[in-house]
Amino acid sequence: MSLRRISILGSTGSIGRSTLDVIDHLGGRDAFEVRALTGMGNIALLAEQAKRVGAGFAATADPARYGELKDALAGSGIETGAGPEAIVEAASRATDIAMAGIVGIAGLAPTLAAAKTGADIALANKECLVSAGALFVEAVKEGGGKLLPVDSEHNAIFQVLQNDQRHAVERIILTASGGPFRSMSRDEMAKVTPKSAAAHPNWSMGLKISIDSASMFNKALEMIEAQHLFDVAPEAIEVIVHPQSVIHSMVGYTDGSVLAQLGAPDMRTAIGYAIGHPRRISLPVERLDFAKLAKLEFHAPDSERFPALALARRAMERGHMQGCILNSAKEIALEAFIAERIGFLDMADIVEAVMDEMAGLDEASSIEDVFAADSEARRRALERVG
Ligand code: NDP
Ligand code: MG
Repeated sequence: MSLRRISILGSTGSIGRSTLDVIDHLGGRDAFEVRALTGMGNIALLAEQAKRVGAGFAATADPARYGELKDALAGSGIETGAGPEAIVEAASRATDIAMAGIVGIAGLAPTLAAAKTGADIALANKECLVSAGALFVEAVKEGGGKLLPVDSEHNAIFQVLQNDQRHAVERIILTASGGPFRSMSRDEMAKVTPKSAAAHPNWSMGLKISIDSASMFNKALEMIEAQHLFDVAPEAIEVIVHPQSVIHSMVGYTDGSVLAQLGAPDMRTAIGYAIGHPRRISLPVERLDFAKLAKLEFHAPDSERFPALALARRAMERGHMQGCILNSAKEIALEAFIAERIGFLDMADIVEAVMDEMAGLDEASSIEDVFAADSEARRRALERVG
């Protein structure tokens, strides 16, 4: 039997490490041929992963770290590369499935390159859909591979969205944990530190997405992600705060039925569902014990304290690359918050201002348009950060 070929873009990150964990569980080298691994700053881990799985190619996005990676893999027979072009090269290697686990819009060009090869795309990098929307969906379709959502909410929807009942889909209900500041006042939120914002109550994730969860910018991106992924109208997308993170999202149908996917908060379930698709696989994740689940709570999100949600709705309704602009401005604001140059609540103000300034931009007709809007939004956000 030939081995299943896989590439992992962002293998040193939280999604990448969980993906390798799932691969190990499924038999490692006996079940998979790892075509390419990519990382950025964590060279030691990248080299260790590449040796362990016998990867064909290992690349770091940081050109300055090339020598270090080459030395670490000397004599292993593993090809090495560095810089953004090397990441695209890694993504272009023929494979059956590519895990898109790079964080931010930096993941767009490599994921598009992987889509072009015809590989199935296991998509964790929501920024591809938020920034490039229909163009990205079209690129995957043209390549001929499947688009398999890994973001837990979208994976949940993917699991319960009955394709033969698409006419009866009334609403998509995204659940949100509410993050560490769920019950904090706006005054208190103004003073929080990056460290406290990064402490997610339920999920263990990368730094940036954890802080985005605290501001609910992550949910904002996920609303736009759902719009493109499931081709639904903005008004059909709802967000409900559910602090236990047991229900990962739901689909409501016109007959009043609501289908939900439940599970322990462990990304390996969503990753495994994408890798195994269309067959469910066996995974060593915690099982839900319903007798121990004292109660499941739900409440409406507070738009005063979490303006990101209203910004997402505005972006979906406006179109014209507002999703891309929202994300690019947010990436700059987030970096400034991590560097303690701006406060937590300043992030939304900066994003809103840049979205308004750039309202009315032409709709993107090519990926180049997306990159141009991205640069412009970053430039404007940087100006505001000072
Ligand atoms: P991490 O920060 O943990 O990992 C990001 C990965 O991308 C690392 O391999 C990192 O390399 C690499 N990387 C960072 N910057 C660049 C760059 N400029 N060019 C190329 N590679 C780069 O992020 P997560 O794993 O948490 O998230 C990855 C994506 O998945 C994000 O889009 C996130 O929104 C999405 N996602 C994540 C979830 C989670 O549970 N973590 C859940 C749902 C979605 P290095 O570490 O070596 O510097
Ligand atoms: Mg999610």
